[in-house]
Amino acid sequence: MQQATDLNLATSDQLFTRAKDLIPGGVNSPVRAFRAVGGHPVFMKSAQGAWLTDVDGNRYLDFINSWGPMILGHAPQIVLEAVQRALPDSLSFGAPTRREVEMAELICDMVPSVEKVRLVNSGTEATMSAIRVARGYTGRDKILKFEGCYHGHGDSFLISAGSGALTLGTPDSPGVTESVAKDTLTVPYNDLGAVEQAITANPNQIAAIILEPVVGNIGLVPPADGYLQGLRELCTKHGIVFIFDEVMTGFRLARGGAQELFGIQPDMTTLGKIIGGGMPVGAYGGRAEIMDQVAPAGKVYQAGTLSGNPIATAAGMAQLRYLNEHPEVYEQLERTSARLAEGTYEIAAELGLNYTVNRVGSMWSVFFTQQPVTDLASAKTSDLEAFGRYFRAMLNRGVYLAPSQFEALFVSTAVTDDLVDFYLSACRESMREAHG
Ligand code: PLP
Repeated sequence: MQQATDLNLATSDQLFTRAKDLIPGGVNSPVRAFRAVGGHPVFMKSAQGAWLTDVDGNRYLDFINSWGPMILGHAPQIVLEAVQRALPDSLSFGAPTRREVEMAELICDMVPSVEKVRLVNSGTEATMSAIRVARGYTGRDKILKFEGCYHGHGDSFLISAGSGALTLGTPDSPGVTESVAKDTLTVPYNDLGAVEQAITANPNQIAAIILEPVVGNIGLVPPADGYLQGLRELCTKHGIVFIFDEVMTGFRLARGGAQELFGIQPDMTTLGKIIGGGMPVGAYGGRAEIMDQVAPAGKVYQAGTLSGNPIATAAGMAQLRYLNEHPEVYEQLERTSARLAEGTYEIAAELGLNYTVNRVGSMWSVFFTQQPVTDLASAKTSDLEAFGRYFRAMLNRGVYLAPSQFEALFVSTAVTDDLVDFYLSACRESMREAHG
């Protein structure tokens, strides 16, 4: 049986002290800080397969996987080799390349609702651009999003936002002007009636409804039966562009993302994370008629010095091609994730805790609450103190979870049956410790 040891994090702590003097909060993205769970972030040095190694030499079984992109585990040979092959041809041209055409062909093939696609450098760029295009296409100003959904840090989305904004208690950010905020309507997730009311109250004013088809940014919350179909019908009826933000779910829940899994055709899709294989790539796409609004084909402006970067697309293409050619990946991820999630639920039940475990494919969360979690309000019933104790106990046992109750966990193909056993044994001890 593993023993819980207090880790030696001396080098991490030194780096964090230096970082805090120079980088706001010591991190380049808020979710990396450990504010919600106590302690300092761990600074990483390298990673291979399912394992991260920190700057002090501690190893962790990784369930963050760079917040989703590393679906094949860390440093997969096929991706590294593709990058190595691309490197001698130089790092950036600022001119079109063959690889961008091949990447567009691959994306449109894997995600059939995407007839035309534009590559960008992050998920945030993808969502910001998508709503600009939807506004240009419809001539309407407002968008509708869902409480707790996170669509990156564009101004229009930092209203009732999830992920780091929620973790840090700032779901509405200072710096977002009132005039921008008034064009973002928010309603609870999984409540079709609330959407209908918002549409009725804002007739012919809503350009787009954007959502995470499976929410990952308040922890994992699946759509209720018929919910996505209901939204699809409302959008069609009212001439609203229906945008699936598949930055997390794209190429993860199925080859064609959540839209394939649930059999729904959105008008537009935003992509990120897995599409770059660990490099900065995002994309937005959709019906040709809508995408033809984008400059230089149309008048909606959007551009990028490094968009379609040759090294980033080499990494992304290698990972996408692998997923495209190996459908068994999704069966393996399903089996592994089911064992992880069901095992966690059983351990919590054994301890009389009966915590809620939500899972869709290889994304999942254990909520430290006995209530069903279907939206932001129910996610917030979780015991955050107990979650923090559990997180630290798991870290001590070499398991790296998201440092917030309001984040999903991501499983990679590098997690073998033995590693599931390793996780479950750490989970049993940590649950006991958290509730000791
Ligand atoms: N959309 C969703 C659903 C996300 O989860 C994220 C990031 O986690 C984004 C958009 C923003 O992507 P990025 O962090 O690459 O800007």
